[in-house]
Amino acid sequence: RLYNEVQDLKGNIRVYCRIRPFLPGQNEKKTTIEYIGENGEIVVTNPTKQGKDTRRLFKFNKVFASTASQEEVFKDTQPLIRSVLDGYNVCIFAYGQTGSGKTYTMSGPDISSRKEWGVNYRALHDLFQMSQNRKSSILYEIGVQMVEIYNEQVRDLLASDGIWSTAQPNGLAVPDASMHAVNSTSDVLELMNIGLMNRAVGATALNERSSRSHSILTVHVRGTELKSNSILRGCLHLVDLAGSERVDRSEATGDRLREAQHINKSLSALGDVIFSLAQKSPHVPYRNSKLTQVLQSSLGGQAKTLMFVQLNPDLESYSETRSTLKFAERVS
Ligand code: ADP
Ligand code: MG
Repeated sequence: RLYNEVQDLKGNIRVYCRIRPFLPGQNEKKTTIEYIGENGEIVVTNPTKQGKDTRRLFKFNKVFASTASQEEVFKDTQPLIRSVLDGYNVCIFAYGQTGSGKTYTMSGPDISSRKEWGVNYRALHDLFQMSQNRKSSILYEIGVQMVEIYNEQVRDLLASDGIWSTAQPNGLAVPDASMHAVNSTSDVLELMNIGLMNRAVGATALNERSSRSHSILTVHVRGTELKSNSILRGCLHLVDLAGSERVDRSEATGDRLREAQHINKSLSALGDVIFSLAQKSPHVPYRNSKLTQVLQSSLGGQAKTLMFVQLNPDLESYSETRSTLKFAERVS
């Protein structure tokens, strides 16, 4: 194996925390992030709660301060991504409340700016380069799929008709989303633009909708050893999760409440699956949500998981920040 620098930490699950910078107009003095250590420590506090000690230390594999660049973040993700070429299955998630930088980390703010590319474009770009430079004795083929899960239904974002696939009654079947062969980074950019456009179809407000669905970009790599004809497969899932914020039950009604319940259910199902894997529990409850069913083959076993835990630094987000960190602590 070329990439054995990918250490086997705790059942192949690792957690990186990333803090979003303050946006223009936000009061930078009012932050809940008190301290960030070199070794994955983060201390959060609520400075307005006098007398009550709200200070709490959390520890993850790594914490990226708000000054961390896309490039720095990718550098620490790259070994995991490259292990796909060795036949590993890898899942990378971004978890956090809406506005905490999940899409920024996974996709970046603007496709046209290479410097700001997020993990998914950098990953594909890197996989193309590696697969071309690496061993001429192996022929690599790369295919991508892109789906969205909304209200426990899976939609193929790259199908020409873009329709919802019918949910299996209680099935384990992964929807057969269309697979698209790609040969270059520009092929990928083109496909992802189509995916983003399909995502917008039928949504009254794209931003609203995208924060309430999970989007999954899956990269399949198939390597054929030319001499022996033996085949090696690896798979990378890049997941931008729905916003984790709790919805006020007294205020949400109808569709909004239903969406919130589905999101809640699937995020806790994901937490339960990762927690069981970390505990090496014999029973892993994959069947409790569409999200965990779709990702089942890439969670557990030899698969590797990375969770980006995204935080808003501002005071108003204190309670969401705490619950995000609690979720992360449980799975790490
Ligand atoms: P989410 O997907 O979690 O709802 P976004 O990724 O859309 O959040 O981020 C919310 C806003 O913050 C966007 O305007 C985004 O460009 C900005 N942002 C998030 N993270 C960063 C960062 N690390 N550096 C600069 N701007 C960021
Ligand atoms: Mg987003």
